[in-house]
Amino acid sequence: MKLICIGRNYTEHIKELENEKPTDPVVFLKPDTAILLKKQPFFIPDFSNDVHHEVEILVKINKVGKYIAKKFAHKYYDEIGLGIDFTARDLQKQLKDKGLPWEKAKGFDGAAVIGEWMSVKEIEDVNAIKFSLKKNENIVQLGNTSHMLWKIDELIEYVSKYFTLKIGDIIFTGTPAGVGKVIANDKLKGFIEDKEMFSITVK
Ligand code: ZN
Repeated sequence: MKLICIGRNYTEHIKELENEKPTDPVVFLKPDTAILLKKQPFFIPDFSNDVHHEVEILVKINKVGKYIAKKFAHKYYDEIGLGIDFTARDLQKQLKDKGLPWEKAKGFDGAAVIGEWMSVKEIEDVNAIKFSLKKNENIVQLGNTSHMLWKIDELIEYVSKYFTLKIGDIIFTGTPAGVGKVIANDKLKGFIEDKEMFSITVK
């Protein structure tokens, strides 16, 4: 399976990193070895002094598809989740400045937190999901999928032009504003509405 990640999908986050607003979705992949195993702490890798949390809505693909039209995209997922796209911001900046791929900064072991899943049936409108991240009991990121530049079904249409989507593939749909550094002993908890979707400790 593959983890397909979208960058720069919320305007306020584009501003905070002083990035340009893209004309197409920014797409990158993480290897499956990036998945943080359930109940494990997240270990800050020794090659970074500035690992950031990026809380993101996740979409789990349940059917094989390529060139999926937006109007059929909803048939390709029936579960929504919440996760973190951990990013070694210092390393990412170095790579970006040189025009090199980001993978080392985004795809390292443990860099993909995947929380619990909920059925799409439990969600009133996938384009109006409220989600948040608490760090040590303070809300640090607050998002709503209504603010996405490209909505879930548009992302499926777009990425499936390039990659065949397979059962179990997961799309990380981009982070809202409020990304920030994590340090040892931080506790991160993610929520969709009031429902806790993950809880992890940083080491
Ligand atoms: Zn991200």
